[in-house]
Amino acid sequence: QQQAQTVISGGTPTSTSTSTRGLQVEVRDAVVQFGDLTVLQKLELSIPAGQFLAVVGRSGCGKSTLLRLLAGLEQASQGSVAIGGAASSGLRSDVRVMFQDARLLPWKSVLDNVRIGVPGGDRSKALDALELVGLADRAKEWPSVLSGGQRQRVALARALVSNPSLLLFDEPLGALDALTRIEMQQLIERLWQERKFTAVLVTHDVSEAVALADRVVLVENGTISQDTAIALARPREKDNGFTHYESSIL
Ligand code: ADP
Ligand code: MG
Repeated sequence: QQQAQTVISGGTPTSTSTSTRGLQVEVRDAVVQFGDLTVLQKLELSIPAGQFLAVVGRSGCGKSTLLRLLAGLEQASQGSVAIGGAASSGLRSDVRVMFQDARLLPWKSVLDNVRIGVPGGDRSKALDALELVGLADRAKEWPSVLSGGQRQRVALARALVSNPSLLLFDEPLGALDALTRIEMQQLIERLWQERKFTAVLVTHDVSEAVALADRVVLVENGTISQDTAIALARPREKDNGFTHYESSIL
């Protein structure tokens, strides 16, 4: 463990030098169906580059389907999805998804799990990513000895190691206890501010949505029924060009 940490402290911090501009996302008239079930019905959503958007809604309303659509993992039967101006077709290398379960490979070390996220399995980038999430000293351990929150940190490191321009979160903190959740929220927020990726966070925790996002959309009946700008207590550039609505969800 000590050895791993020594290697890391000698590495170059990537946080400011390689920050990317986020990708813009445009969903137009998207329809997604599973057999007879229409989950998304002519959904319209425009996400400016660099925005932190939260998606809330009841269980089964289609949040994960929407996220998968943005990830290129789901096809719209009508309408279109464009990521960074290009029509979506499959998962792009500059888009990463993080799920509620960390989905780590149990037979690989923490470090090797993070190396999966970067081309060529770059070891020093993986160590830097672990350093970012505060787990550099656990690099050589197995995922099974980590807590749920630590496993999500590893998943976050794996998602960040390639410096993605769009990061999609599907209830990543849903299974964590309240204190760990707050720590993870702060970590995600800090990384978003440093890396400047576009973030889409699906959550059914409205207070989490408000704490993290600068815009919250509600999915209902297959479409976006509310679109709310969040007034932020913290200083942040806020000229995102979207409409401010009265809100009944907050
Ligand atoms: P949420 O994430 O908001 O809970 P989902 O997007 O997972 O909702 O699912 C929306 C609806 O679509 C649910 O009724 C779910 O059962 C259905 N669904 C999701 N994925 C599939 C699939 N691959 N095949 C059939 N039905 C699906
Ligand atoms: Mg879901």
